[in-house]
Amino acid sequence: MSHDPAGSHDHPHPRQPDIEDGPLTHHMALTEAVAALLQKKGVITGEELRRTLEDIDSRSPADGARVVARAWVDPAYRERLLEDVNTAAAELGIDTGNIPIRAVESTDTVHQLVVCTLCSCYPRMLIGLPPDWYKARAYRSRAVREPRAVLREFGLTLPDHVEVRVHDSTADMRYLVLPRRPGGTQGWSEERLAAIVTRDCMVGTAVPVATGG
Ligand code: FE
Repeated sequence: MSHDPAGSHDHPHPRQPDIEDGPLTHHMALTEAVAALLQKKGVITGEELRRTLEDIDSRSPADGARVVARAWVDPAYRERLLEDVNTAAAELGIDTGNIPIRAVESTDTVHQLVVCTLCSCYPRMLIGLPPDWYKARAYRSRAVREPRAVLREFGLTLPDHVEVRVHDSTADMRYLVLPRRPGGTQGWSEERLAAIVTRDCMVGTAVPVATGG
């Protein structure tokens, strides 16, 4: 198939279903009703709602990566992070809202993995929106039953002596994996360290690797 740099749309497009094509689910109807009611009662304006959504959507794994990199280079900060993620993130100017986030630390002998078995609870205000696989039933059910097999499918094979701990997120408690700092990163700047801390490293489906020049 040839690519048309001019961008003319004369080739056939596959039909992509619109969200509105399906019937309104119970939760969609409930969400719309509550949003309309909150605005009608003057609790929140449409502009405030829009701005809140925009703020949530603007969050990215780069925020969480800054927190992890700081914890790697500053032992006192690491202690504060393990004590209270929300407060520690605020130190770096990251407002994570009022849902508590707990840091779980991976070590030589323990690997931490995060899931929400019920739905898609995720530390969005610190690492952005969850990937599709995090919300998929296969991940939600299998991560607790056979975490090692799931991790292998993500390309991560853990030695037998490493214990896997799986954390089930809820609406009231979110988890951030504090990954192990990889070898070969001595003397790296915080910025360079943050660049190797990807989203998946903070969920536990990957581990940081010392790469890049
Ligand atoms: Fe959830």
